[in-house]
Amino acid sequence: MIQSEKATWPEIKTAIEQNRVAILPFGAHEEHGPHCPLSTDTVMANGLATRLAEQVDGILLPPIPYGETWNTSGFPGTLSLSFSTVKAILMDLGVGLMKSGVKALIVVNGHFGNRAPIELACRELKVKYDFPVLLIDYPGLERLASEICESQPAAPSFYHADELETSVMLALMPDAVQMDKAQAEYPDFPPTFASEPIYLHTFCKSGVFGDPRPATAEKGEKLLDGLTQESMKVVTAFLTKL
Ligand SMILES: [Zn+2]
Repeated sequence: MIQSEKATWPEIKTAIEQNRVAILPFGAHEEHGPHCPLSTDTVMANGLATRLAEQVDGILLPPIPYGETWNTSGFPGTLSLSFSTVKAILMDLGVGLMKSGVKALIVVNGHFGNRAPIELACRELKVKYDFPVLLIDYPGLERLASEICESQPAAPSFYHADELETSVMLALMPDAVQMDKAQAEYPDFPPTFASEPIYLHTFCKSGVFGDPRPATAEKGEKLLDGLTQESMKVVTAFLTKL
């Protein structure tokens, strides 16, 4: 693996000539309850991207520390990019990588709200430029959560500042987690939650969805191992057909 933020341009030139693919973690700057930092999604995406970059000997790009987080913007500290900005960031970086001769890009997304604009950018990079981009969005997460976590998620496949995310943070950045402030909240989701735009602070006080208290670094390591394995199945299939 080569980390582009620590590398020089001749080193990157050589890496590109060796046909090594680029890996971009896409995060967010978003509330994660009273116990996890605003950078949680960025740290998690960077953690998985680093493991994947090691596995494929890729070119690891610095993480994007902001994302599309409008629905938690009622919590101070959350800073959201617009949908079009997220898409534009990926388009610009994708075109730049392509022009410098990189043969493909793997995007590791750490935040749900980024998914739609990233998917749109991936499609546009393919259709307009025939540049292959793979989106890794925590494959197998629901199964891994049910196997490794003890608490129930607040809603099906909804993991936010809960046991899952807190465990991964305890594995990756333990100094930034304040377990003494961890509290459980199982908010009542409005019936129209999936059907209209709703700010999360209107029905959740703490910003926690679920119960972070059983979180441990050991569970976080297991979750990261599982996510790496699941992601590698998709990555291998993608790289094989390049
Ligand atoms: Zn998160």
